[in-house]
Amino acid sequence: MLEEFGIEEKLEELAKKVEKEIEPIFQKIEENGMKNSLKVLKAFQKNEIAEMHFGSTTGYGYGDIGRDTIEKVFCDVLKAEDSLVRSQFISGTHALSVTLFALLRPNDTLLSITGKPYDTLDEVIGIKENPSSLKSYGISFEQVELKNNEFDYEEIEKTLKKKNIKLIEIQRSKGYSARKSITIEQLEKAISFIRKIDQKVIIMIDNCYCEFVTDKEPLEVGADIIVGSLIKNLGGGLAPNGAYVAGKKELIQLVAERLTAPGEGKEVGPTLGINKSILQGLFMAPSVVTASLKTAVFASKILEELGYKVEPKFDEKRADIVQTIYFAEKEKLITYCQGIQMGSPVDSNSIPMPWDMPGYSDQVIMAAGTFTQGSSIELSCDGPIRPPYIAFMQGGLTYEYGKLGVLKAIQNMKK
Ligand SMILES: *Cc1c(COP(=O)(O)O)cnc(C)c1O
Repeated sequence: MLEEFGIEEKLEELAKKVEKEIEPIFQKIEENGMKNSLKVLKAFQKNEIAEMHFGSTTGYGYGDIGRDTIEKVFCDVLKAEDSLVRSQFISGTHALSVTLFALLRPNDTLLSITGKPYDTLDEVIGIKENPSSLKSYGISFEQVELKNNEFDYEEIEKTLKKKNIKLIEIQRSKGYSARKSITIEQLEKAISFIRKIDQKVIIMIDNCYCEFVTDKEPLEVGADIIVGSLIKNLGGGLAPNGAYVAGKKELIQLVAERLTAPGEGKEVGPTLGINKSILQGLFMAPSVVTASLKTAVFASKILEELGYKVEPKFDEKRADIVQTIYFAEKEKLITYCQGIQMGSPVDSNSIPMPWDMPGYSDQVIMAAGTFTQGSSIELSCDGPIRPPYIAFMQGGLTYEYGKLGVLKAIQNMKK
């Protein structure tokens, strides 16, 4: 059947065999998708979503009933006291930056307990010099490394007792590192450990790529505030841009006043016609995350069959939608990413090349033949050009398209 798509019969046969073996895993993923769908549907009904919420505002955006109700729906889904779901957040990075600037003051210390945060935060924090960084405001930064993919409890306790820490950042997804992502169980344990030592420290979670992967979110296990992107999981592939921040009411108030202006906070922010897309995106998100997870499991198993080291393995517990593949050879990483692009619905005739991206020390290759620019809830794959040549693959709006993309990439690598 796939011959006309350039997939040879042998590979299609292997795909069939793999799909049989991963069937029980798919069942579990679908059960989880069911739980999250129910959660979303209940939130829509409780907030009495109606046609009027699809309308929107311009200018200052006062009294945007769609926007305000969307934020209530997100609160119910994420179990938050309050939330900001805004297109004025350009990206996940921007939402993280605004949150950090909102909650930290001169002489405060920020502590990361999952090692170095995501690359794009280097200049926000001041790890890499920037005249607008937190560091330039006299906010210092400490980090505790993970130890064998677990929190280093001893070191966390020492740091909390030695220094007055204002905010702890925990990044669940691995970013471009070779570590494993943080499960909700690991997170729960770490938060209760922190709370025994320090009741006041703000616990902020970078929740990018983790929403709906299980049936519990970080605020349910004691986090104070969580941040994520709408061109990842919760946007369901339909949100055109934006990010969310959710958590304790007084913290969200501070973030709102930093995003807009002190005194204006949540009251302003025009939605310019996107309310329906945000709502429909959230509605689709449990299914889209299900499709992404199935695509990741399929890729993990078939690439393992072909002799590659993969993480997580197909039957391992997952914390996010990211699948890593260790290609060991530069050429394979590049041709795999190019193959993902070839299997995409948009820009399938473009050939991604490694390039010197701002903010990265090595060249990076990025494949994203997506409807929304840079959207990584759509099938996408990228990796820094350095040994052991790891590809970070994620997304897939449907499993069928995800599977086709993965097969195209494998076929391209074989050529
Ligand atoms: C994607 C991501 C970010 C940044 O989000 P953008 O929307 O790309 O700016 C931050 N942290 C993690 C772990 C991510 O995966």
